[in-house]
Amino acid sequence: MPEAPRPYPRPDRDTGPFWGAQQHHELHLQRCSGCAAFRFPVTPLCPECRSFDFEWAPCSGRGKVYSYTVVHHQTHPAFPVPYTIVLVELEEGQRLIGQLRGSSDGLAIGAPVGVEWEDAPNQPLPVWVIEGDSPPTPQVSE
Ligand SMILES: [Zn+2]
Repeated sequence: MPEAPRPYPRPDRDTGPFWGAQQHHELHLQRCSGCAAFRFPVTPLCPECRSFDFEWAPCSGRGKVYSYTVVHHQTHPAFPVPYTIVLVELEEGQRLIGQLRGSSDGLAIGAPVGVEWEDAPNQPLPVWVIEGDSPPTPQVSE
C-alpha cells in the first residue's frame, strides 16, 4: 500500500487540555472537584456525583491491560500490520486505548503497562509498554 500521512486527533474546546498536556508528555484527565473521581472520556458531568465542576489533573500513566487485540488486517496505509492495540485500565480506574510499543512478550490480560510517547510533529501520542519481568496469570472472563 502507498504511504499516507498518519491521522491525528483534532483537539476541540472540550478535549484541548487532554491533548495539550501530551505536548509535555503528561497524561491529564478530568478530575471532579466535588468527589475527586477521575473520568474519561471527556464529559461535562461527573458520573459519580453529577457535579459540573472539574479540574485537569495528571495521572500516573501506569495501569494494566484490560483487553487487547492484534491487528492483522490493514485498514489504513499509515498503520502497517501487525500491531497490537491495548485497552489499559489506569491506576486511577479509567480506561484508555492505545498502541502497544515494543515487544508483546508478557502480553496478557492484567499485564502491567506504562505510558511512553510517540513523538509526532504536532501531537505526541501515548503508547503503552509492558512493565515488569514476569507476566501475570491470565484471567478468565466470566
Ligand atoms: Zn464527582
